[in-house]
Amino acid sequence: MARAYNFAPGPAALPESVLKQAQADMLEWGSAGASIVEMSHRGPEFMEVATRAEADLRTLLGVPDDYAVLFLPGGATTAQALLPLNFASQGDTVDYVVTGHWGKTALKQLTPAVSVNIAASGEADGYRTIPARESWRLTPGAAYVHITANETIHGVEYRPAWGEPAPDTGNVPLFADFSSSIASEPIDISRYGVIYAGAQKNLGPVGISVVIVRRELLERAGQPRADIFNYSSQLANDSMLNTPPTWNWYVAGLVFRWMLDEGGTVEFNRRSDEKAALLYGAIDGSGGFYRNDIDTAVRSRMNVPFFLADEARNAAFLDGAREAGLIGLKGHRVLGGMRASIYNAMPVDGVRSLVAYMQDFQKTHG
Ligand code: PMP
Repeated sequence: MARAYNFAPGPAALPESVLKQAQADMLEWGSAGASIVEMSHRGPEFMEVATRAEADLRTLLGVPDDYAVLFLPGGATTAQALLPLNFASQGDTVDYVVTGHWGKTALKQLTPAVSVNIAASGEADGYRTIPARESWRLTPGAAYVHITANETIHGVEYRPAWGEPAPDTGNVPLFADFSSSIASEPIDISRYGVIYAGAQKNLGPVGISVVIVRRELLERAGQPRADIFNYSSQLANDSMLNTPPTWNWYVAGLVFRWMLDEGGTVEFNRRSDEKAALLYGAIDGSGGFYRNDIDTAVRSRMNVPFFLADEARNAAFLDGAREAGLIGLKGHRVLGGMRASIYNAMPVDGVRSLVAYMQDFQKTHG
């Protein structure tokens, strides 16, 4: 089978041109006599890679100068554990808005030294909507408010139709898990205290994550912690307090460059609208053969869970999809059914192929 359209949720598809470049660079970096994966992270070659990756990410996302960018090993879950350690003091309250599985995961990473207030939760509604901002019970003086910008499994995302993509939390800094939607549209970083993302959806290979933090927040004392878990120490050491995941960082840098070359977040926003409209249109227009139950105001443009009315046909649907060159569509075990993840690296044509397949499948099985 040739390379398929890969709808996997993460690790997810990477642009083919990036993979080809990485393949070429794998054996020898320029005329260095060694691969970038074999060179010191402190040598001039990798320092150039790291510096350029940060500069490109800053350009891509429009990161203001008063924000630091960290490239850290580990995933979004690691960041979820490090946020309270770095930004909340003993006895502080932190506010969490839970809109799905990953919001719940974030809660599990909290240290017992802080008190958590669940300011709002979509659980009672099966996470099919995002509770209205007016219903949130925020704590005055909380250390921060944490949200999940896009819920990768439940398929809900803060969209303008909900009210605003970056909810107003007044003087309390807003921390957002952007793992599955970063760089899919232009955002106003200054509305956030911290933005973090595991790389393996929109930014590159798994194993590295990006943390964008308003510099003044790094002055907070936080909790007693090992230096390696200290974001300000990481910043002072250019995210190289220990040996960083150089290969992942390098490939992420290729993805940043690719996104800039393609037209940046403005273009990915346009494509995301187009892809989401195609796919939700096909689901909603199927007369109930396919179903997505999410409140239309907060439907994710990145992860589209959907269900066949007749679940007994799931296996046939997935087998046929694979034969049609469409992979990674099996839903998460928490929800079952199907899920199409349509991140930046998924071309509009990939979604067109999926829609055509869904319509064919319905014709033969409907
Ligand atoms: N948050 C979100 C929104 C995610 O989609 C994921 C992974 N799918 C995580 C957190 C956890 O990320 P990691 O596996 O990198 O720790």
